[in-house]
Amino acid sequence: MTHASSLPPRPATFVVTAGRPARTPDAPLNQPIVPASSFIAGGPMEYAREDAPTSEALEQVIGGLEGGTATVFSSGMAAANAAMDLLPMGSVVVAPSAAYTGVAVRLRELDRIGRISLRIVEVDNTAEVVAACTGAALLWLESPTNPLLQVADLPACIAAAKAAGALVLVDNTFATPILQTPLALGADFVLHSVTKALSGHSDLLMGALVTADMALAEQVRGRRVLLGGSTSAFDCYLALRGIRTLALRVERSQSNARFVTERLQSHPAVSRVRYPGFGSMASIEIAAGPAAADAVCGRTAIWTHATSLGGVESLLERRRRWALESTTVPENLIRLSFGIEHEDDLWADLRDSLDAASAL
Ligand SMILES: *Cc1c(COP(=O)(O)O)cnc(C)c1O
Repeated sequence: MTHASSLPPRPATFVVTAGRPARTPDAPLNQPIVPASSFIAGGPMEYAREDAPTSEALEQVIGGLEGGTATVFSSGMAAANAAMDLLPMGSVVVAPSAAYTGVAVRLRELDRIGRISLRIVEVDNTAEVVAACTGAALLWLESPTNPLLQVADLPACIAAAKAAGALVLVDNTFATPILQTPLALGADFVLHSVTKALSGHSDLLMGALVTADMALAEQVRGRRVLLGGSTSAFDCYLALRGIRTLALRVERSQSNARFVTERLQSHPAVSRVRYPGFGSMASIEIAAGPAAADAVCGRTAIWTHATSLGGVESLLERRRRWALESTTVPENLIRLSFGIEHEDDLWADLRDSLDAASAL
């Protein structure tokens, strides 16, 4: 096959072209759904917990986007637990204070039972992250963080961790490989909740762990085989179908986020806007407090009051409604996940709801 240019295809092209059957006469354009637990002996595929055609096609797309070998898991948390499981007993793990709730709770649980020793840092305080890396086995980064949108200096933090002999994992769920590729910056692992922007339609749960190191990739695959967090062919098909439009969706949802957050800055009901300047996630604080924040979430017609993010539909949520949410997250904070609707409709809907809340 010849390319229009000698350069490797850009991500917007790669998401469309990768993970498809070989171009032979009468081959289907799309990777078929192959619902099989077991495969005829003699080839590389034996049993679907190890490998299967539909998940492999998806892994080619995710791995190629991030610049490594991807292994998909039954959820982002299954992928996160696979990474945690690679650590020797008693390993020091450096992690963000407000990481994804499930990750933060699980790391604290592992610390409590003596499985790891946890050091909590603010990822936007580079000096603190660098100092914490001494003696660490793993630096766990999330950038931007959920839901405070703190941004880590990834090159500096990764370099410090590598110098200290630590592995580095970056949860790239918020930025997506369209906006940031941590393996190219020296990270050892990239984690994704494929549930979010990569699949993009809020219709499945899936995770991925990507690494450019072949030995680590084998260990990761071993975690799926032994811990059992494998995926279904049907979900892999949906994720593959969803990821075809990743670049388009990120472009649109990011421009929606820029448009709306700019206008939110001057709305009297909003005391603070957190938007890192890129990506499709933002958080706002409601001046009148948590009850008014709940009212804002309950009044929108286009925005849906629901958890999760990265789908085609815009979602908003007061994060502290969750008992396990970090207490560093303000009670009046609403997280916004921008979808791909028209920017004027998104702004008008949110503005009307904020106007009503400020009139309370
Ligand atoms: C949702 C999420 C996870 C967990 O993924 P699941 O697919 O829900 O298990 C991990 N990290 C981040 C940043 C997330 O948003």
